[in-house]
Amino acid sequence: MSKIAFIGLGHMGLPMARNLLKAGHALKVYDLMQAAVDELAAEGALPARDARDAVAGCEVVVTMLPASRHVEGLLLGDDGLLAEIAAGSLLLECSTIAPESARKVHAVAKARGIEMLDAPVSGGTAGAAAGTLTFMVGGQAAALEKARPIFQAMGKNIFHAGPDGAGQVAKVCNNQLLAVQMIGTAESMALGVANGLDPAVLAEIMRQSSGGNWVLERYNPWPGVMPNAPASKEYEGGFMAELMAKDLGLAQETAQGSLSSTPMGALALQLYRLLLKQGKGRKDFSVVQKLFTE
Ligand code: NAD
Repeated sequence: MSKIAFIGLGHMGLPMARNLLKAGHALKVYDLMQAAVDELAAEGALPARDARDAVAGCEVVVTMLPASRHVEGLLLGDDGLLAEIAAGSLLLECSTIAPESARKVHAVAKARGIEMLDAPVSGGTAGAAAGTLTFMVGGQAAALEKARPIFQAMGKNIFHAGPDGAGQVAKVCNNQLLAVQMIGTAESMALGVANGLDPAVLAEIMRQSSGGNWVLERYNPWPGVMPNAPASKEYEGGFMAELMAKDLGLAQETAQGSLSSTPMGALALQLYRLLLKQGKGRKDFSVVQKLFTE
């Protein structure tokens, strides 16, 4: 069992850290929000005073922060945390950030003798709670083998996407596709209902036909079609539209770097920005349905 520092106990980090505790690891935890630290301390984790205190004496560090600027702000620079983490430790950076940003952190970690993996996840808060996340891992295969038991305590599918930053590239590709599927499904649902179809009947016809996709299987954006989907709960819970907009922005930046053509991703980003302007950024990303109905 490992001594693990876990930093970033938000919607995803808290349940992920809880699964590491359940698997028997010794955990030191830190977040800017004291309530999250207290919650895990009550379940057996050691509360840290700050991020430095969290990593002291730990051989593995997991970070689960909102975006590139938080990750770079915490880890890099003269007083960054990478200077505090012992050489020979393993850093598992699980936030969704720019591949370029991940590569920057990899380079500094390597120079300090720290093995790092970029390991963003898919599966949402439900997957984090159930311990069934998918990890998309970039970095050295040998480091992944060391980290595998830790990932397995939090997830079900662990993929080696390729070298440094490749996990983040896989993540932005996946989320771009998810956004496009969500918007296309919402558009077709609205078209059918506007022309007299029952939404549940239309959803089932498309699910079983050539338009079938993950959104129709598990996450229908039309309220009432799937009782447990965020759409049926006023679009609460799930994956926030503002995080999807962030990921679509990362996809565009990544495309710019390789001069890839991503017209569907670009349109998806613009539609999500509209939602943010309408004040719906903190709703689940299936709230894009409302662009076609209101
Ligand atoms: P969140 O905002 O709920 O949690 C982030 C946590 O990091 C917060 O509790 C915040 O206080 C903490 N934090 C920020 N800066 C910190 C610092 N310097 N030191 C310590 N703590 C700090 O976000 P989340 O939903 O848990 O998402 C985390 C990451 O996972 C994001 O990159 C997101 O894109 C990605 N992700 C989210 C989901 C989802 O469904 N929510 C799914 C897959 C991936």
